[in-house]
Parts: sequence; C-alpha cells; structure tokens
Amino acid sequence: MPRPHYIAAIDQGTTSSRCIVFDQAGNIVTVAQREHRQIFPKPGWVEHDAAEIWQAVQTVMAEATEGLDIAALGITNQRETTVLWDRETGRPVCPAIVWQDTRTDALTRTLAEHEGLFKERAGLPLTTYFSGPKIRWLLDAYELRERAERGEVLFGTMDSWLLWNLTGRHLTDVTNASRTMLMNIHTLSWDDDLLAALGVPRAMLPEIRPSAEVYGHTAAGVPVASALGDQQAALFGQTCFEPGETKSTYGSGSFLLMNTGQEPVVSRHGLLTTVGYQIGDGPATYALEGAIAVTGSLVQWLRDNLGLISSAAEIETLAKSVDDNGGCYFVPAFSGLFAPHWRSDARGVIAGLTGFVTKGHIARAVLEATAWQTREVVDAMNADSGLDLTTLRADGGMTADNLLMQTLADVLAVPVIRPMVAETTALGAAYAAGLATGYWPDLDSLRANWHKASEWRPEIDDQVRAREYRNWKKAVARTLDWVE
Ligand code: ADP
Repeated sequence: MPRPHYIAAIDQGTTSSRCIVFDQAGNIVTVAQREHRQIFPKPGWVEHDAAEIWQAVQTVMAEATEGLDIAALGITNQRETTVLWDRETGRPVCPAIVWQDTRTDALTRTLAEHEGLFKERAGLPLTTYFSGPKIRWLLDAYELRERAERGEVLFGTMDSWLLWNLTGRHLTDVTNASRTMLMNIHTLSWDDDLLAALGVPRAMLPEIRPSAEVYGHTAAGVPVASALGDQQAALFGQTCFEPGETKSTYGSGSFLLMNTGQEPVVSRHGLLTTVGYQIGDGPATYALEGAIAVTGSLVQWLRDNLGLISSAAEIETLAKSVDDNGGCYFVPAFSGLFAPHWRSDARGVIAGLTGFVTKGHIARAVLEATAWQTREVVDAMNADSGLDLTTLRADGGMTADNLLMQTLADVLAVPVIRPMVAETTALGAAYAAGLATGYWPDLDSLRANWHKASEWRPEIDDQVRAREYRNWKKAVARTLDWVE
C-alpha cells in the first residue's frame, strides 16, 4: 500500500493563522492555530504586524504537518490587507493596514472623479475596503514612493507575503488581485489607468497568476500550489462550481458569494464583482459578493471591550437567557457599512433601549445583527441576479452557534445548511492545491466529498419577520452621517 499522503492548507485569517491538513475524502486530519495581535492605533484604524503573522504561519505549519507526508500546500488568506516590504531584507517597512481600516476615507473621497472607472474596470465601489487606497496612503505617509518606483519596496496582500516567504517569488493570484482596485477584472491584468488614478507604481506589484498552479516549493520541498482569497476559497470549498450556487461564510466579517460563471456581472444593488477562481490555464470564474464588515468581530467586541461574555461561544447561552430582543437592535457599523450600503461615514448604534433591556437582549441583538445584515445582502443578490435564493450554505467560525443558524433561517425565510466540514475556507485552498498537483482528478471528485451535516428551517411567521425587518432598517438609518 502507498504511504498515506495529505494536503495542507494555510488559512491566514484576520484574527488568527491556521494550518489544516486534509485527507483525500476532505476530512480534517490535524489543525494548528495561533492568534496574532490586532493593533488599534486610533479610532477606525486597524493594523497587523506581517512579520508576526509569518512567524505564526511557520509555527502552525510545523505543528500541523509534523510527521505527515504532505503532497502539496495551499494558501488562503484575509483579503485586501496591505503589506509593504523591502525586497532586499524581506522585512516589512511599515505596519500592514487591515481590510477593516477606514483611515483612507478622506483619500477615497478625493478620487470620486474616478468612481465610474473603478466600477467598470475593477468591479468595485470606491471605498476604504480595498488595497489600492491603502497602498497609496502608506506610500505617502512613510515616504516610500521613490523606493517603490525603483522596485525596492514591494506590495502584496497576505497571499503574496506568504508566497514570497515560502517560495522567494513575488506573485499573487487573480482572486486576491481582484480586491486591490488595480486589476482589470476583464483582462485579469494590472491596469495603467487604475494605477494612475491611485498613484501606485507598477514596479512594486506582484505578478498575477491563476489560483491553482505550482508556484514554487517550500524549504522542505513541498509544492506550494494554490492561493485564493478566503471568501473565494470558501466558495470553492463549498463546491459552488455552477452559476447560481451561493455560500455565506461567518467569521470576523461575513461574506456571501454567488458563482456567476465566466462573465463578470456588474452589480446595480451594492454588491461587488470579483474573481471566484481560476484553475491553471482555464478561464476565470466570476462571482457576485456581498461583504459585511462586522459580524463575529461584534461578538469579540462584546467579550473584549465590554466584558459581557468571557468567550465567543457564551454569546449563545446569554442570548438564550431571554425569549427575544426586548425591542433592542444593534447595528455594528464600526467600519462604516459595507454591502449593500457602502457608507464609510456610518457608525454603530444600539437602538430601542429601555429599562427593560438586559445583557441577554443585547446578546440576542448581536446575533440578529448578523442575520439582518445577511438579509440585506440576499435581497440585493436576488435583485442583481434575477434569481431567488432557495437555500443558504453557511460556514465559518460563527456557524458553531445554533441559535444564530436558526435566526438566519427565520430572517431569510429559506433553509440554512451547514456542511460536514465547516472549515470550507481551508478546504477550498486544499482542493485547489490538490487539483494543481493531481491529488484530486477533477471537480466532480471534490463535489462527491460535500456532505450536509445540519439544516435549519424558518420557524417565525411572516408578520413578525416583516416587523423586525422594518425595525432593523430604522436602526440602520440611525447609523448614517456620523462622520463630518
Ligand atoms: P476569521 O477567519 O475571520 O478570523 P473565524 O471563522 O475563525 O473568523 O471565526 C471567528 C469569529 O467567530 C470570531 O469573530 C468569533 O467572535 C466568532 N464566533 C466564534 N464562535 C462563536 C459562537 N459560538 N457564536 C458566535 N460567534 C462566534
């Protein structure tokens, strides 16, 4: 019998880095995880230390793969987070600006004349979320432009940073590149007009490659064979290979992606057009995306900033201590509001407070916030695609919360399904790496690995749902126009 061999995936997330090893059936064999610091220098600013993250990634890789025969390594990562490093020393030259960071709000407003260009070429609205404005801000603030023009200072999203450290090559994949505002999503190459609009020198950019191919080898000789932004990886891991298939991932933020096939669909309802994946030399598959900035991170905020719970899992127990939200609504517009609103000037509110409201009601409002934000995105997706969502495939850390899953089914009025392997982000990266190296033969073999674990069906009546949605919308209206 041949020795068993496995595929490893690095999931470099917003709050932690994981390495997960999978077998051929897509089952998890080992997991290792390390958190890294969230640095908040000012309100609205969020930074990471890319060197600390690389350390964490090396540690979890060593732990998870120890004693195992690894056939290939895949990478999936938090998207948009912007790292600049020195080509000579390989050291970061400034803090990494995290995707949630809103420091580029004023800068993006000065780019308003290019809004149509960004939408048409990059498929993206002009907001603080994407990498382009973050690069520009760092070049200006740290006076790095000349060095960047000479190619001495390099840019990368986390995939690029890890690929550089693992293989010594300066590459990115199409899905990560589609989040920079610098790539033309039709041609899948850097676009001179976009570069000029944002003032980003081409010499600092990585080469754009497909999401699945052998990019190089680790020091231990393992082929590094995939890179996908975390949400695109989850779409792949959920085996949403057909147009119309949709998944939603619940982590720090939450992200619905619908496969739209081989043509990019430009949204008219506040969604993003993004690259879903590209396997080897094949055509790119596109997706519509609804990005929600704050969902799981609101649970963390309740734990870390208010001390109302001591672990994320406790939110469910606390929320179950009451029957409903007690009239309380929590809109966590901590980084402005993302899809479908795209308002950087929004700030969070807790609305409907009375003396009756307890921390149990607030916990419930926190979980409901994730569900209602999902509902707003699903409405936009139905409108853009002309299809009605019939089931939601959910995954991510928050789906451990059964009350949240039931609330989602109630609010969306469709069944919510959780697959056997909820780590679909890492699984997607493993699948892509396994396809690139022949570990799995084709997409059908991946589909055969997908199994439903649990399903929740809507239980509330239509009138209650409609009333609660109206109240939610009123609370959302109160978040706007906070920033001068
Ligand atoms: P990311 O990859 O974005 O770091 P994960 O998929 O690891 O996120 O999920 C972690 C997030 O899920 C955290 O923000 C945490 O607050 C939230 N979370 C974890 N467990 C629960 C739970 N039982 N109920 C609600 N939220 C949870």
